[in-house]
Amino acid sequence: MIKLYYLPLDNIEVTSPYGKRNIRVNNKYYWWHNGVDLKANINTPVYAIASGKVMAAAHSNSYGYYLAIDHGNYASLYGHLASFKLKNGDLAKAGAIIGYSGNTGDVTGPHLHFEIRLGKYENFWDRAYCDSNVFMNTVDPMLFIDKFIQRNKKLSLEESINLVKSAAGLEERTMEYIASHYKFGEDLVKKLAKAINL
Ligand SMILES: [Zn+2]
Repeated sequence: MIKLYYLPLDNIEVTSPYGKRNIRVNNKYYWWHNGVDLKANINTPVYAIASGKVMAAAHSNSYGYYLAIDHGNYASLYGHLASFKLKNGDLAKAGAIIGYSGNTGDVTGPHLHFEIRLGKYENFWDRAYCDSNVFMNTVDPMLFIDKFIQRNKKLSLEESINLVKSAAGLEERTMEYIASHYKFGEDLVKKLAKAINL
């Protein structure tokens, strides 16, 4: 299962989405975007989205300086970096700085190219498997980024009550009792909701 434990950047702002596109950079034609482009000035810290082993901290003409992490059944890639903080073979902890964003490779300006590919890392560059949702084993990273943001946003008391109510199959009046009459009830409901939401 793909689950982000950390966001690749502190601030997420998409400048170019995943999927079909028509652009030319450095006289090369790119018709499919394997990942998502996120707004990032040069030298913005980039974080590992989950723990894993660094399989590449290398350079290619298109990705520039890129780093790829094997997370077991999926892998993440961070492209157009200015510099690396980790090297090939290192263990990256979720949330660790892997490097700093830049504008290396085929870019029109500084940004972070972020990519998630399904399956084992040995098949990372495999071009065989494509359908309308999965292209060359890549998937839209925003699906998982959005989920992370959803999981980590602060829930209101009402949202917490509704979450606990539906997850535990409790009745309205039971929730009402817990939240308003039980000592530390509000706190308890919020904690339960957070645990359910993880
Ligand atoms: Zn990109």
